[in-house]
Amino acid sequence: MQKAPYLSVIIPCFNEEDMLPKTFERVMDALEGDWHKGAEVIFVNDGSSDQSLDLLRAFARENENVKVLNFSRNFGHQAAVTAGISYCSGDVAIIIDADLQDPPELFKEMVAIYREKGANVVYGVRRQRRGETWFKKLTAKWFYRLLNSLSDVNLNVDTGDFRLIDRKVINAFKGMGERNKYIRGLISWMGFKQEPIYYDRDARMAGETKYPLGKMLKLASIAMFYFSKKPLKMAITLGVITLSIGLLLTIYVLVAQFSANSTTTPGWASTLISIIFFGGVQLITIGVTGEYIGNILDEVKGRPEFIVEEEINIKKAD
Ligand code: UDP
Ligand code: MG
Repeated sequence: MQKAPYLSVIIPCFNEEDMLPKTFERVMDALEGDWHKGAEVIFVNDGSSDQSLDLLRAFARENENVKVLNFSRNFGHQAAVTAGISYCSGDVAIIIDADLQDPPELFKEMVAIYREKGANVVYGVRRQRRGETWFKKLTAKWFYRLLNSLSDVNLNVDTGDFRLIDRKVINAFKGMGERNKYIRGLISWMGFKQEPIYYDRDARMAGETKYPLGKMLKLASIAMFYFSKKPLKMAITLGVITLSIGLLLTIYVLVAQFSANSTTTPGWASTLISIIFFGGVQLITIGVTGEYIGNILDEVKGRPEFIVEEEINIKKAD
């Protein structure tokens, strides 16, 4: 059995002024009790343009265990969580969204699973997703299916980043060199002892989703291209198949050309079809290759994943 841990709660926030007072209250209430050895709450302000930062400053003034990392601009949800993980000092850290879709009341149970089962990761699995569009549910389902079949990570359809990770996982995570991170994939990939916790996911309580289609696609693309090289291999397979078709066509064309009663002039339909078909195949494969090259460029540039403009209540241990 593990000892009662010192806890870090990591909350990424992007334009969450409507949510933050309520979120702060529920998180603080959930942290009541002696089931942990104390807790810090790290809010990461991901370039909000509303009053979020002022609210966070006020929370931090009230309570020195509330810490704030303020980004110089919007770097995205995954960068915000990464920052929280690299700054946190807990024996375990819990990652939770600012919109209360995932209930803070589960913290205690997550820590209980960590202690009793000796789990290194306790990941939330959504039994029900209230208030999400059918489009999001359907695309999520098919996307995870595709990702699981292509890559060597295995992700449950209904997991997000709501999870508890222990110090071993935090340290391993800090050693992940890639700049574009797909956090749930990376943590699943690491191994260790991972236990699920089942819960019903609520609808967002206030404000709008901060994950419009564009950001969702970017995250999906990182998951796909960082966790699998199969699309590249599929390009080769596709190339081999089309080349074989091309060779057969060539034989056909030559035979037709040189046969006694040649009728080759009316061949525009087949010519056009093959140009369009092969053109399409080529563009797709160039696109796939380009996606990998773009990612290599991102990684080679070696820019930081985020820039912290200001740290509030943070005392750096190392
Ligand atoms: N978020 C962020 N940066 C972004 C987008 C979102 O820090 O660029 C935060 C947001 O404030 C929330 C969490 O990430 O705490 C999840 O976002 P949201 O609830 O809008 O996503 P959804 O639940 O709709 O997928
Ligand atoms: Mg949400």
